[in-house]
Amino acid sequence: MNPNTAPAPTPKAGLTTEQFVWKYAHHPTYIPPTGPELNAKNWQSEAALRMFLNNLTDEVAESPADLVVYGGTGQAARTPEDARKIIEVLLELEEDESLLVQSGKPVGKVRTHPEAPRVLIANSNLVPHWATWEYFNDLRRRGLIMYGQMTAGSWIYIGSQGILQGTYETFAACGRKHFNGDLRHKLLVTGGLGGMGGAQPLAATIAGATFLGVDVNPDRIQKRLDTRYIDKMTYNYEEAKRWVLEAKERGEAISVGLVGDIGDVLERLLQDNITPDILTDQTSAHDPLNGYIPNGLSLKKAKELRMQDPDKYKALSLQSMARQINFMLALQRRGSITFDYGNNLREFAQQGGASDAFQIPGFVPEYIRPLFCEGKGPFRWAALSGDPEDIRVTDEALKELFPENRHMIHWLDEAEEKVTFQGLPCRICWLGMGEREKAGLLFNQLVRTGKVKAPIVIGRDHLDCGSVASPYRETEGMKDGSDAISDWPLLNLMANTAGGATWVSFHHGGGVGIGYSQHAGMVILADGTDRAERCLRRVLYNDPALGIFRHADAGYETAQENAAQFRLTL
Ligand code: NAD
Repeated sequence: MNPNTAPAPTPKAGLTTEQFVWKYAHHPTYIPPTGPELNAKNWQSEAALRMFLNNLTDEVAESPADLVVYGGTGQAARTPEDARKIIEVLLELEEDESLLVQSGKPVGKVRTHPEAPRVLIANSNLVPHWATWEYFNDLRRRGLIMYGQMTAGSWIYIGSQGILQGTYETFAACGRKHFNGDLRHKLLVTGGLGGMGGAQPLAATIAGATFLGVDVNPDRIQKRLDTRYIDKMTYNYEEAKRWVLEAKERGEAISVGLVGDIGDVLERLLQDNITPDILTDQTSAHDPLNGYIPNGLSLKKAKELRMQDPDKYKALSLQSMARQINFMLALQRRGSITFDYGNNLREFAQQGGASDAFQIPGFVPEYIRPLFCEGKGPFRWAALSGDPEDIRVTDEALKELFPENRHMIHWLDEAEEKVTFQGLPCRICWLGMGEREKAGLLFNQLVRTGKVKAPIVIGRDHLDCGSVASPYRETEGMKDGSDAISDWPLLNLMANTAGGATWVSFHHGGGVGIGYSQHAGMVILADGTDRAERCLRRVLYNDPALGIFRHADAGYETAQENAAQFRLTL
């Protein structure tokens, strides 16, 4: 590097560990530090520290007091004591050490080197024979394990925007496939407006549809109102119905949140002869005990029953999911384009007696796999400065870098206007093989030249082209039947560790629940240094390449063509 363009040495914030914890991590109040000063000993540890705290901060996490970030019970750390210890270690971690985290608990440090990951994370993993919710919950009750979901336990959750782009891509692809790319005058109905599902209303309206979302918990809908992800909220079915039917008639893209049980609302729609154009669901069906609320139970009653009689609770959940999916199947028969949205609803509904549950297709084979074959997936980044202006700078730089990518530019324009940041300012857009590496190097250059005020971290969801084995979601219906083979996410983890991601993770059970998925995460820092440039070149090449390897190997022709184009063929 030319010494004249090297980033200036970073000033130190100068807080003691006690002062830091008091200011930024006083349970249950967690706040990520911002600005150009270091609290840790280097930017790699600082990045992990800020993103860990960002996951737990009030605007981002669903329940900071329980360390729950999203997805029902997806946690960033196992206990408040573990959270504190993680912070203490990250503040002191050297560039030749890496912290080991076992299901949210810091368990040791190993000797590594400056281009190795600073944190190595394993969450919720069980030997396959024991991989059931019952066994897992027993271990959790005994304080031995934690559910990490995907980006909760791997410290790169960025609030609802993270899923917003993926949901938008899905709805837009659904529109292209079934409605000539035009979702105006189309009604989209769904259940669940929680951490992930809360992205649906904004994604639907950006894609042009009229939206009705149902959630049994009014606080969840209120949170979407507060962050401008949803336009209106009501407890009254008739009112919601009137609003959405009038909007659909006018071709108006508005979103309505209705408080209620999704099964009950679908039953009413059937009775009223209202057939949604698009129908899906994002209730926390992946977890029949700690997620889904059985039909007919208030939130308070559900909480009591969960404690008193978990077996009964689970049986009621399965029955309610079967009831819900039978209504969905009835609407599908009437013409609704119906798809499962990755929450394992079909499996548990089938267990509850809905034998035709799998007549509903999964969203990945329907809409997302063609993108995976190009190595595309949810590329995301956060400005560690805390300054929204830095994200604007990166947005503009990306538009200049890829002027031919109209789809990405439309998304960035919409996101700039409509997305309210939660926690550290961040952005997401789906980029493919080749594009991710270029974008990462561009961001490193923006940091190096001082165009942004502090380093940028780049990560992704585990729902990516080459990092997940999940037979009811990302790898459902693979061409060669290799749905359940989880060598691929392990290879992804190893490639990203060897390549020098800043932190890496391997999880079990994200999205669809214990027993049903294994997946790897990675986050990499762009701090303007030559070290970062070398790591970015490797990691942002290897990570999407794994997606192309995986899909080419499974026989997808576009992936094979891309493999040839990027010289990935052996
Ligand atoms: P969450 O727990 O934050 O939210 C789930 C919501 O469902 C809650 O608000 C809850 O009140 C509501 N709910 C539960 N039972 C209900 C019922 N009977 N009727 C109406 N509402 C009900 O979970 P989340 O983070 O939003 O995730 C939702 C689901 O989507 C999970 O199963 C998750 O694994 C899955 N998921 C899907 C994707 C994807 O890409 N499609 C990505 C991540 C997660």
